[in-house]
Amino acid sequence: MEKLVLQNINKNYGSVVAVDDLSLTIEEGEFITLLGPSGCGKTTTLRMIGGLEDPDSGNIFIEGQDVTNIPAHLRPTNMVFQSYALFPHLTVFSNVTFGLKNLKVPVDEQRERASRMLDLVGLSGLEERRPNELSGGQQQRVALVRALINEPAVLLLDEPLGALDAKLRKAMRFELKRIQHESGVSFVFVTHDQEEAISLSDRIVLMDLGKVQQDDSPRGIFESPANQFVADFVGVGNSIEGECINVSKRAVQIKWGDGNLANVPTTEDIPVGATANMWIRASDVRIGKAVSTTDESWSGNVEELLYYGDHVDLLLQVGESDELRSIITAEQFYDENIKIGDEVKIAWNADRVKVFVK
Ligand code: ATP
Repeated sequence: MEKLVLQNINKNYGSVVAVDDLSLTIEEGEFITLLGPSGCGKTTTLRMIGGLEDPDSGNIFIEGQDVTNIPAHLRPTNMVFQSYALFPHLTVFSNVTFGLKNLKVPVDEQRERASRMLDLVGLSGLEERRPNELSGGQQQRVALVRALINEPAVLLLDEPLGALDAKLRKAMRFELKRIQHESGVSFVFVTHDQEEAISLSDRIVLMDLGKVQQDDSPRGIFESPANQFVADFVGVGNSIEGECINVSKRAVQIKWGDGNLANVPTTEDIPVGATANMWIRASDVRIGKAVSTTDESWSGNVEELLYYGDHVDLLLQVGESDELRSIITAEQFYDENIKIGDEVKIAWNADRVKVFVK
């Protein structure tokens, strides 16, 4: 069943177009993420769903009901903020049951629901503590429980992990996913962190300048970026400019660098002579002994390298003008004793290359 439908939503602030003709459907139990750079309209969209902002035009439906003109406190949505927004003077129990108390839910039922939800997030036994007696991660879990306890149709999460340190932030991803699975509530999550979006979401809506650039599964976004913007935003990749010198129905031959030739499968209708970017993920650029004799290959030099423990990020100089990033395993790095200045063979699987005509 469709939980949330956004229909042709527009929102301007003076001359700034914050959200531009956005349409979106979210199914029951779906975890969707609004992803994009700062200022692309994610938070404005979330706030319009929650009723904290009014769209200039368009409609918002929740569980089939048009809520466009319904005030925030009457919508079946709750919001979790980066700042937790807990009541500092209230205990954990009073914080999480605050909404239930306002709804005049009987005290026994408040206790029962609070105990079940606090158990779910591993906070049983901390009911009498106040927020300043909790860690950041614990406070964020209290905020989640408070937002989920009255069973909203849709939970809105605005960078909820943003205030946590990097390690805790990663650990909380599991927590968040587990809570979402067990609650069955549809989540609309806002982040500018592409790794967070890829790992958490059933579906990602990637935005730029108020417009949807791609609405797809994490795999679709990661492996089949719809355009150069999506490709550049998600993951570490290379954009290699070249000239399309030969075009057939199924492939294009691109001349790049100091006369290198690459054959890339594509069904796009590309004119001969067009300038295009070949886009390839750094983890798909192979070097050294991993290059098989059947691959097209080129030569380059290791200019710089960054060691990350499980992988190594290499900057390769190819010819006069091109630099390529290649991510290899630490195992290959040590096995092949790769050093700055080494000349290496470079290759990629042509199926992994996307061509974006300029
Ligand atoms: P961030 O990741 O930085 O929070 P965002 O993608 O959530 O960014 P929004 O906060 O939705 O972006 O803002 C979209 C655009 O609308 C931006 O250009 C922003 O400056 C503008 N904007 C947002 N709120 C207001 C406001 N109340 N008044 C004027 N302009 C606003």
